[in-house]
Amino acid sequence: MTDVHDYAAVGVGPANLSLAALGADVENLRSVHFEARASFSWHPGLLLPEATLQVSPFKDLVTLVDPTSRYSFLAFLAGEGRLYRFLTARFPAVLRTEFDQYLQWASRTIPSIEFGTEVRSVRERDGYFVLHSGHGEVTAANVVLGTGQTPLIPDFMRPHLCADVFHAGEFLAHPREVSGRAVAVVGGGQSGAEIVRHLMRLDEPPQSITWITRRPGLLPMDDSPFTNEYFFPGYAREFHGLPQARKQELLGEQKYASDGIDLATLQDVYRERYRHECLLGRKDWLRLMPRSEVTGCARLSDGWELEVKGAQTSIVRSDVVVLATGYEYRLPDCMSELAPRLARTADGLVVGDDYSLSLDGETTGRIFLQNGARHAWGIADANLSLLSWRSAVILNAILGYRRYNT
Ligand SMILES: Cc1cc2nc3c(=O)[nH]c(=O)nc-3n(C[C@H](O)[C@H](O)[C@H](O)COP(=O)(O)OP(=O)(O)OC[C@H]3O[C@@H](n4cnc5c(N)ncnc54)[C@H](O)[C@@H]3O)c2cc1C
Repeated sequence: MTDVHDYAAVGVGPANLSLAALGADVENLRSVHFEARASFSWHPGLLLPEATLQVSPFKDLVTLVDPTSRYSFLAFLAGEGRLYRFLTARFPAVLRTEFDQYLQWASRTIPSIEFGTEVRSVRERDGYFVLHSGHGEVTAANVVLGTGQTPLIPDFMRPHLCADVFHAGEFLAHPREVSGRAVAVVGGGQSGAEIVRHLMRLDEPPQSITWITRRPGLLPMDDSPFTNEYFFPGYAREFHGLPQARKQELLGEQKYASDGIDLATLQDVYRERYRHECLLGRKDWLRLMPRSEVTGCARLSDGWELEVKGAQTSIVRSDVVVLATGYEYRLPDCMSELAPRLARTADGLVVGDDYSLSLDGETTGRIFLQNGARHAWGIADANLSLLSWRSAVILNAILGYRRYNT
């Protein structure tokens, strides 16, 4: 067949954008990258102006496998004429808005990306994969899934979702009326902390904020040097080779290396609380409820009543409820036909040492998975740290030779 792509990628977030950047200069590679959104945007609902990257900007699309690539963060800064000013600004961490600009810049310069194209189905035909979108069909020898993670929302909250009860990922999606109102933030991870900090800094802040978390406290992300080795390719490989039961133990032990709150955000929240309560006299303005789980929600005529189980059961009345309750991986709907043919364990999909899924049948092509294999590859899977390395592993597997040193 002449019009078969070597691979078709579904979703263009940072993961498949990295793949596109690493593949952009590979001769004779025929690839296409489909993105449902009209243009690139990086978690736009949480792109708060003060939010920063939790990792080094060298963990960009390409640098850790190809420091000479024209798609590096440094190349972006140089292209924008910002290098000297960026260095002189000495940000303790790069603003997420700037990293989003970098990702957008890369997405505009890579020709194989088709925006505004949602893949609706992936089927197998004559040993190839056929992808359907509203714009027609494309045939590819391999598929790379990079559709990101899905918001986790407790089942009992689903019927209440509305303009005042929403997942954190939707925070900026609509204008929110929070000033002078009682706001409850559920979830003690990074997103919860960023939203609490943002609410505390508003010119017209909420009347009160209640921050509820199951965690024993507002625990910091472990960003210390030896712990950071969990985010090395060598460790990821070692983890991948362990028995599944051991992986589960380690995921529990290592949780706060990826899911804690970064220290600078915690300090900001602490200082804001001091300013509001001690200097502005707003006593008990930020109420912290650790070791507490929201177990129910009821609608009132003028707000919401959350049932919270901690040492005792209590009721929290609120006008606005922000669910900073995290994300989980789910196969995208477009995979519904092939999903029954994918091998699984009790913990999730079987993901091979080149990130390919195990598909039964005769197909010679493979389906690769980006950012859906924490259970198989460890805590670094959802993080930017292994972004370029994982893309290089996948690209090498598709090409059938070692284009990148992984
Ligand atoms: C707010 C936030 C901040 C983060 N900050 C950091 C950080 O500082 N450092 C770090 O290491 N990690 C961070 N992470 C974790 C991780 O790096 C990001 O979640 C990253 O965006 C994951 O990239 P992705 O490409 O896998 O998924 P996504 O960014 O979610 O992109 C998936 C894309 O697929 C598209 N899509 C889905 N289905 C289809 C379809 N059927 N057809 C076409 N397109 C489709 C979606 O529109 C979306 O654009 C952050 C996560 C969040 C939520």
